[in-house]
This record gives sequence, C-alpha cells and structure tokens, in this order.
Amino acid sequence: MSLKLFIPGPVDVSQDVLDKLATEQIAHRSKTATELQERISLKLQQLMYTDHTIILSTSSGTGIMEMAVRSCTKKRAAVFSVGAFGNRWFEIAQANNVPSDLFNSDPGMPTTPEMVEEALKTGLYDVVTVTHNETSSGIMNPVYEIGQVIAKYPDVIYLVDTVSSLGGAKVEVDKSNIDICIASTQKCLGLPPGLSVASVSERAIERAKTVEFRGYYLDLLLVVKHVKKNYQYPSTPSTPHMWALDYQLDKIINEEGLENRFDRHAKLAKIVQDWATKHFTLFAHEGYRSNTVTTIMNTRDFSIGDLNKELGKRGYMISNGYGDLKDKAFRIAHMADRTEADLLALLSEIEDIWNL
Ligand SMILES: *Cc1c(COP(=O)(O)O)cnc(C)c1O
Repeated sequence: MSLKLFIPGPVDVSQDVLDKLATEQIAHRSKTATELQERISLKLQQLMYTDHTIILSTSSGTGIMEMAVRSCTKKRAAVFSVGAFGNRWFEIAQANNVPSDLFNSDPGMPTTPEMVEEALKTGLYDVVTVTHNETSSGIMNPVYEIGQVIAKYPDVIYLVDTVSSLGGAKVEVDKSNIDICIASTQKCLGLPPGLSVASVSERAIERAKTVEFRGYYLDLLLVVKHVKKNYQYPSTPSTPHMWALDYQLDKIINEEGLENRFDRHAKLAKIVQDWATKHFTLFAHEGYRSNTVTTIMNTRDFSIGDLNKELGKRGYMISNGYGDLKDKAFRIAHMADRTEADLLALLSEIEDIWNL
C-alpha cells in the first residue's frame, strides 16, 4: 500500500504532475529547452517576489547551499542556526575550507535580527546564512526583519535556505534583501526530489567574481553565465523535472493562487499546533512556529517507531525527531498539496493508536 506522507519531504506528488516527468526527451541545447527555462524563471520570480536571476540545479537543495556559501564568501561567513539544517551550512563551509563561525539560538528560539546585528558589527563577516524554516525544530525565522539589518551592511551577502518553506509560506526575496534564496522541489513545491531552485542577486554575482576556486559543477558564476546567455546550463539539467516544475508552478500560481496556498498551509499548521498543544507541547516558541512542519515534544514518552509501524498499516507516515531530537520529539509535515481532510484523518488515527 502506498503511504500518505506527512514527512517533511519528499512529499506526495499528484499524478498529473508525475505524468509530466514522462514528457518526450528534448535536446538541452534546443530552443525548446531555452523556452522551458524562461517560463520557469518568470514563474519562480512571481513565487519568490523577485526580479533576480533564477537558476536551477540538478542536485538537491544542499547543492545550491554549497554553491552559495563557497562562491560568495571572500572573508568569513556568519552561520546562524536553530537546528540541524542550520548546522549543515556550517558543515558545508568547513568542508570547503570557507572561514565561518556558527551562532546558535536557545532551544525553541529563532535567529533574531539583534544576534545578526551584533555579529555584523564586528566587521568580520561578508556573508550571513539563515534557515528560513528549520525542518528539524519546526522554527520559522524572521528573514524579513533580519534582512533589514543586513541592508545596513552593503558588503554582506545574505543567503537564505527556504528549502522547506518556498511554496508553503510567503518569502519576499527583494523586500527581505535576500541575495540567494534556495529551495528543493521535494518539499512545499510538491514535486519529486532531484532538482533545486534559487534566486540570485547581482550583488551575489559581483561577489562571486572576486572569489577564487568556486569549484566546477557548483560554480555560481558558470551557471549564471549560461542562464543569462540563453536560459541554458553548463551541463545537462534534469529536463523531466523542468517539465513537471513548469506545470506545477502554473497550478500553484494560477490554479490555487499564491495567497490561497499560503493560507492553506497556515491553516493546516494551526490545526496541528492546537492538537499538539492539547496533547503534548511544541518545541518552537510561540510566534516562531513553522507553517509547513510541526515539531512536537514526545512528553508522554511514546514509541515513535511503533507509532509509525501502526500508521503504516493504516496508510500513513510521519517523521521521528531529527538528530538530537530523535524519539524525544516527532514531526508532522503539512506541506505541498496536503489537504485539511488528509490531516484530520491522520490526527484521528494517531489519537486512536495512542488512546488520546
Ligand atoms: C530538506 C532540507 C534541506 C536539504 O535539502 P535537500 O534537498 O535534501 O538537499 C536543507 N534545508 C532544509 C531546511 C530542509 O528542510
């Protein structure tokens, strides 16, 4: 039996979108490929509220994280983390010999504009990385407010991971002063894994021109050069994903509508948060809770493994806590095309299994 996935990626993908993956093959240097990328760019600019250059990467989102931090850091990166994916930026920087420092928040608390300001005042940093929606802890960070601080430091490039929020929560790239905004297809965009997307500012491109040894496959400048020339890529992109993305973006923007889509995610989040508050506690403090995934503290010490086994028999799957929070917490994702009816059905199965 196929499972309804309530995990924070990969998400279920609707059949009409899956069918687009089976589009006939095209030459990646053809006019058709150029037009496909151009259409995707215009739609992603709408979704991201930006005029910046749109790039795709035939890698998961981590690939563009590596591209961004390696290509844009000349001096030192200030990495702000509220969980496992924030820490990943730091691991990537270290692995690439990019000088960096890690700044953590207290458990359940966000990255604050004040923390960022304090770090930038030292003059040590020319890159800031922030996780918009931390999928391990269920915290949503104030990327707009942080962006207002960064605007005061013209030499600082602002890299934001919206991997598990783009398409599920409003991310206004230009207003938030974000230089590179990154997302993967297999989360709120409702597509299979294997492709990632980003917006890239001119400031980020100018910075990369001053950075040596940016690698090859993930060299920001090389990718941008090709995209700007004729909306193509230095190497062969996953054109099947591109067909599906082009189609799904139409559904997101024109069929459902952006505001409706964000409202639906917010509503699903509220349902899970209220349910979790009634039976357990939430990891993220009020005001910083994610619209796309909820991290619930396992205050009753139930077996999450057993729960998932039982849910599996009934056609569902949720996520255990991530990293340090394994078994101490569990996560319910409510992203992409998930509906209220699906979610209520899942919660009542959990109530039944755990006798809540
Ligand atoms: C899933 C996730 C990633 C990693 O994305 P991949 O597409 O698996 O590389 C990074 N950051 C966040 C917040 C995520 O949820």
